[in-house]
Amino acid sequence: VHKTAGEIKALTKKYMIDTYERYDFVAQTAKGMYLYDEEGHAYLDFYGGIAVNSAGNCNEKVVAAVQDQVGDLMHTFNYPYTVPQVLLAERVCKALAMDKIFYQSTGTEANEAMIKMARKYGVDHYGPNKYHIITAKGSFHGRTYGAMSATGQPDNACQVGFKPVVPGFSYAEFNNLDDFRAHVTDDTIAIMLEPIQGEGGVNPATPEFMKGIADLCKEKGLLLLLDEIQTGWCRSGNIMAYMDYGVKPDIVSMAKALGGGMPISAICATEEVSKAFTMGAHGTTFGGNPVCCAAAYAEVNELLDRDLAGNAKEVGHYLVEKLKTLPHVKEVRGKGLMIGIEFDAPAGYAIKHGCFDRNMLVTLIGDRIIRLLPPLIATKEDCDKACDILKEAVITA
Ligand code: PLP
Repeated sequence: VHKTAGEIKALTKKYMIDTYERYDFVAQTAKGMYLYDEEGHAYLDFYGGIAVNSAGNCNEKVVAAVQDQVGDLMHTFNYPYTVPQVLLAERVCKALAMDKIFYQSTGTEANEAMIKMARKYGVDHYGPNKYHIITAKGSFHGRTYGAMSATGQPDNACQVGFKPVVPGFSYAEFNNLDDFRAHVTDDTIAIMLEPIQGEGGVNPATPEFMKGIADLCKEKGLLLLLDEIQTGWCRSGNIMAYMDYGVKPDIVSMAKALGGGMPISAICATEEVSKAFTMGAHGTTFGGNPVCCAAAYAEVNELLDRDLAGNAKEVGHYLVEKLKTLPHVKEVRGKGLMIGIEFDAPAGYAIKHGCFDRNMLVTLIGDRIIRLLPPLIATKEDCDKACDILKEAVITA
């Protein structure tokens, strides 16, 4: 079906409940570091589908894995055993030194599962009141009710107007160990954190804070729940961001990059904590779908075998140093190829649009922070190009 770009935009406005600020182009194809419109104009990808296309847009091995799988077995539900599920399970559990995996389809669902598993574990072990979870102010954990209630951004559009939220959460100051300690009550079962807050402005946990939280969990018998949905799978310069901190979660959630563009998410847990999910306690129709698992297995193999974490670390460091020299930069934050550039004036929209006008795609947090989440195959040359475009966009903003 051929439609012009103008028709597609008009039909989108007419028929879709559109909660997104769109880039003003119709994406037709994508490859590696670029997206292309119907006329073949190339857009340099520095948002990676929001940290998803980490082994590159339409990675050949991921595409081939999907094509191979889709004609054989497209969907089964979790009644039969399937090969893609176990190949992925073994590779992920071994890479993370975790015992067990549970599949879902989206990030927010993975966090629902993480919260539910922690609460069930608490109730199973300590009785009905052990359900309280401390999360961080400024955190983002998703948009379904449990994950939204765990999110510590009461004034953000993702929370305003959706009360009442799920009870049993409280919110402590990120990077403030004393505040987390002060929130622990007799009912507390877990602390839930992003190692680097993504949607909250690209704020990495300090090493002292993360270590302190892990120690606090041990001291008080709490579970450590880490949301690695954005930071995970090599983006931070390590397989999981927590690995740089020398801590180990009881449950970790992952999504985004796991499927390389196909909708799959998961939690991994220790053997002991995973036992909270007994027969029938949790489930999902699409979680563990064979096509998604095959894609994820190919993506994870690409990320690990090509050491894209190492590339993210090296290229990310190079990029951060260059970004610091841009005009009007207040601070450059992040790790690996998860980078936030905070400007000294609220010119974010103009800079984002200036980048788009120069055929580069970036995302914006608030009105001062430009966020870069390129595919992890980005080279130093890609970064040079991105910096040149950003510089022009800042100067003309
Ligand atoms: N948790 C974190 C840290 C995220 O960054 C996101 C998405 O941006 C989510 C959870 C929610 O994931 P999804 O949009 O796939 O539901």
